Amino acid sequence: MPQDPAKDPVPGLLAAAAARLANQFSDLPATPEITPAEAGSIAAVLEETAVRLGDNYPYFHPFYAGQMLKPPHPVARAAYALAMVINPNNHARDGGRASSEMEIEAVAHIARMFGWEAPDFLGHLTSSGTIANLEALWVAGQANPGRRILASEQAHYTHSRISAVLKLDFGAVPADNRGRMDLDALESELKKGDVGTVVATLGTTAIGAVDPLPEILALRDRYGFRVHVDAAYGGYFRLIPDSLDEPARRAFAAIDQVDSIVVDPHKHGLQPYGCGCVLFRDPGVGRFYKHDSPYTYFTSKDLHLGEISLECSRAGAAAVALWATQRLLPNVAGGEFAQGLAAGRRAALELDSRLRADPWFQPLAAGSPELDIVVWKVQADTLQQSSDLAQRVFDECARRNLHLALVQLPQQWFRTGDVPFDSNSGKNLITCLRSVLMKPAHESWLDLIWQEFKAASQQILGE
Ligand SMILES: *Cc1c(COP(=O)(O)O)cnc(C)c1O
Repeated sequence: MPQDPAKDPVPGLLAAAAARLANQFSDLPATPEITPAEAGSIAAVLEETAVRLGDNYPYFHPFYAGQMLKPPHPVARAAYALAMVINPNNHARDGGRASSEMEIEAVAHIARMFGWEAPDFLGHLTSSGTIANLEALWVAGQANPGRRILASEQAHYTHSRISAVLKLDFGAVPADNRGRMDLDALESELKKGDVGTVVATLGTTAIGAVDPLPEILALRDRYGFRVHVDAAYGGYFRLIPDSLDEPARRAFAAIDQVDSIVVDPHKHGLQPYGCGCVLFRDPGVGRFYKHDSPYTYFTSKDLHLGEISLECSRAGAAAVALWATQRLLPNVAGGEFAQGLAAGRRAALELDSRLRADPWFQPLAAGSPELDIVVWKVQADTLQQSSDLAQRVFDECARRNLHLALVQLPQQWFRTGDVPFDSNSGKNLITCLRSVLMKPAHESWLDLIWQEFKAASQQILGE
């Protein structure tokens, strides 16, 4: 969002496109227009709405460097609003003719990023990563009925919850001190012989850890199970292999060999909320979705997206916004979109190295971030003190308009010199500071962010 709304190009661009769109319906009889009185009432409500919306953290600004929040691209905002004039529903072509086509193209573009080409995959957009993962695990349960789902204990909590919803047994595999699934622990679970699906997370929500996918695939050859990749956060990092360390690069390179993939365009893909995506390598899983609808599938013999989706009504506008964004910024290695990801990653590495040089703080002991999420603890005598100080630094930063996040991590992931060792320390959680540097602008803003962070830390820790 530009500081000065008068300089926001979106309304002007939108007005021009809306005129072009309206023009295509000009042969219809005119309908009543909004009267000046109605417009006045709407203006009053919008004024009130704007006042309410001011009560937010400034997610659009580089000083928001906390949770996974990245502003949608202006073209996505404009295309979404343009589609709202039509408000298409991508359940069936009956409700969203153009936008269903645009969804199919946008999803094919994402699939291509993962090395899959139509018609040799099946996929569609969803309203979220949660629903996308729900579909992937639902298909997994249909394909391997009665067998367990495994995911790392650092996987998103949604997997254990979804498994419960689907009445599938779920097991959590311990993570190592970098937050990656522990392969020995995985193999001892596999030896029990009842595992149907392993969820590999490429980019965990807490710290951006990348599970060792090539090794998990090697275990699949021996034990036979489905592999689902949850790359809701990390999926787009496949576009910047040269910016990643070797283990993460190998994991993203192997993604084309898995059975299903989830990625969230509304996380790193510059989209408004309401845009997840699920992909299956075997188009034959479409058979699990088979259903009849007495209401919907009439206007076309072509595939209606509702025939391969658990959700019925879905925002066609989300597909339109994604399609338009991909036209402007294709998801290709070396492109402008990929360069934006690489900029955030450089910002994360820079912040991590400054923290490593700072006596007040301690980033992860085992190494630098795998993607663009930085976590660090405050040095203190005890776990409790460290956690309390992290909270106070966080609050002081927020008071200064610098917005970070907090996360609870196992104490053993940090050097233990300053806290008594405890064999049970994996269970001892320490509150740490966390920053997701996912905006391209975070790179050029890092000096200012650091300056503000140090000033806040001085206030709390320099006493
Ligand atoms: C965000 C996230 C999810 C959940 O996706 P939503 O779009 O928030 O529903 C699942 N898995 C991972 C790894 C995530 O980062």
